[in-house]
Amino acid sequence: MDFEINAQIAIEALSSYMQRSEAGEGKVIDQPPMRDLAEQLEISRFIQEGGLTGEVFRDFLDRYLSATTRLRHPGYMAHQVAVTQPMGAVGSLIDGITNNPMVIYEMGPAPATIEFMLINWMLKKVGWTPTPIPPTEAMTACGGGVLTSGGSLANLTALLAARGKADPGAWKAGNRKDLVILAPETCHYSISRAAGILGLGEQAVKAAPTDLDGRLIPDRLPGLLRELREAGSTVLAVVANACCTAVGLYDPLRETGQFCRENKLWLHVDGAHGASALLSDALKHHLDGVELADSLVWDAHKMLRTPGICTALLVRDHRDLDAAFQQDASYIFHDKEQPGFDFIHRAEECTKAALGLRLFLVLASEGEAAVGAYVEEQTSMAQSAAGWLRSQPDFEVAVEPESNIICFRIQGSDELQLELRRKLIQRGMHYVTAAEFRGQQWLRLVIMNPKTSMEDIQGLAEELRGHVDRS
Ligand SMILES: *Cc1c(COP(=O)(O)O)cnc(C)c1O
Repeated sequence: MDFEINAQIAIEALSSYMQRSEAGEGKVIDQPPMRDLAEQLEISRFIQEGGLTGEVFRDFLDRYLSATTRLRHPGYMAHQVAVTQPMGAVGSLIDGITNNPMVIYEMGPAPATIEFMLINWMLKKVGWTPTPIPPTEAMTACGGGVLTSGGSLANLTALLAARGKADPGAWKAGNRKDLVILAPETCHYSISRAAGILGLGEQAVKAAPTDLDGRLIPDRLPGLLRELREAGSTVLAVVANACCTAVGLYDPLRETGQFCRENKLWLHVDGAHGASALLSDALKHHLDGVELADSLVWDAHKMLRTPGICTALLVRDHRDLDAAFQQDASYIFHDKEQPGFDFIHRAEECTKAALGLRLFLVLASEGEAAVGAYVEEQTSMAQSAAGWLRSQPDFEVAVEPESNIICFRIQGSDELQLELRRKLIQRGMHYVTAAEFRGQQWLRLVIMNPKTSMEDIQGLAEELRGHVDRS
């Protein structure tokens, strides 16, 4: 069970896996039936008998890796999941061995300090006041945040904090019936899921007015607010996209934020995918006005290239987040003299991984400018790809990309687009997703992989044409 031997085996296998994937060897996606895989990987036998170490492990790992979806393959253009920066992955390894669930400082001073400093770094990018170190009792006007397990959980936590503000009694007494959330229909499904989990019910999510592209129209918010108030509703939060999942467009945050400030409404910005544009001078204008929000979700495991999972939930006023979970558990929450800071009041997790180490190692090995340059390059790659696709007589592009997401379609029906996606996945050389937009079905590319080039986009177009010709 020697750690060094097995880790060495894993590193050798992974290095070769990375090189071969990046060179485009083999398929980006290949899905053997689960029954076959269960046998090939000998899962039941290993559980029963053990012995998966040394050369047996090497052999197993080959089989395991050959049944993974290769995000590092240039044909990977599918989901908003990072092609991890290797130092970020080393962070996951270190965390696996040290295993410091740092929501209480005494269980991980180094990861807790890293998380504290990363939150401050992100707060500054947003334009919010960082928390002084050490945090003081008298601390009032400063931001705060926590790293948590994904954008979906962070959205839930943000809306929980918003509910704490709109109806502080709800934690003990349950929800009043009048609370509603205003969100564009283009928002991520985790928003309505959060409404369900919070016990508000999905019906409490009211569609915020949007234009044809699904972008929020701030000018129409006053009228909607008046209507809702006349009907006896209380707006718990307004949600804006930065950017939306399907096509990657940003909502106008400054106008929306001004409206929310004037009307004392909580503005939650879902920047899970797009907040990373804050690292680029050329792109941060998309988030202009974000500082007027009350909360912001920012996934590092999308555009900041950390392994899954590492999300920041940031708030303009740290007290709002500290009030989100109004619970006591005497064995961990007791007042104590301590040299550090506990995050446990701010997160759903009790045992929480040292998520910050992943992001820190990405930033600290590359430097923040290089990470910002990656975000820019992926966006300009998406814009070039959209330009080229638009120049082709048989392709149509939904909108000019504002992020690294492109929706396009080949001449033909909605069913054809979905059929083509199935064929692409079956062949396994290009992996794309699909999305609905403006009432039509589109093929959707997310350019996450730094190895994806125009040649790959042109190769994809050729493959699509080939499938159309044969059908
Ligand atoms: C990806 C995404 C989410 C969900 O984040 P997870 O980290 O996958 O849970 C939420 N909102 C938006 C806008 C997203 O793009």
